[in-house]
Amino acid sequence: MFRIITIDQLLQELAKYNHTELHVHHTWRPSHKDFNGSNHIALQEGMRNYHVNTRGWDNIAQHVTLMPDGKFVTGRPFNSQPCSISGKNGSAGKIPFMVEMLGDFDIGRDKLEGKQLESILQLARYFDRQGKYIRFHRENASKSCPGTGIDKNWFMAQVRKPVKSELELAIEKLVAHKIINTPEYWLKNAKKGMTVDGEYAALLIQRFAKELK
Ligand SMILES: [Zn+2]
Repeated sequence: MFRIITIDQLLQELAKYNHTELHVHHTWRPSHKDFNGSNHIALQEGMRNYHVNTRGWDNIAQHVTLMPDGKFVTGRPFNSQPCSISGKNGSAGKIPFMVEMLGDFDIGRDKLEGKQLESILQLARYFDRQGKYIRFHRENASKSCPGTGIDKNWFMAQVRKPVKSELELAIEKLVAHKIINTPEYWLKNAKKGMTVDGEYAALLIQRFAKELK
């Protein structure tokens, strides 16, 4: 019943709802060392078991868990109130969306980075762009959750910094491979309605050919 989904799939599903806020947590336990690359569902079932049988909740607390590989595992139905933050779990029809990031992000423990960081930023961006509040658990609880290693101001700056286009990312890659050394030129001219110098295009083709050898 739990499903593994990508950030794109998650955002598509979220578009069918109107959650009021995004609540961000870390699981603390289990943490990165418990993830082996393929046990997404087993970890989620372990959490549900703990939440239902030990904590006595109606279901797993969270709507989704974000794994270190950047994929999400679904939890409780998206239209049901989470067991997220005491006093902040909303009411019928006004439900915050709760994500648990698998890891212990207190300083000196796991690092939020790579695909996991990219996915949480995309999710947070989705809410922030709609003017919806991104709430860290610790804002309303005497806990460090989602971890002392994640500074809220830093996090929001990442959420709000301009996102690079596919072209910008591609050009950066080519600069790193020394195929392009005038990135500004290509960013300015390699687009609809503009033209590029034939000599530059020839150079580009030759450098690519060399790289492919
Ligand atoms: Zn929490």
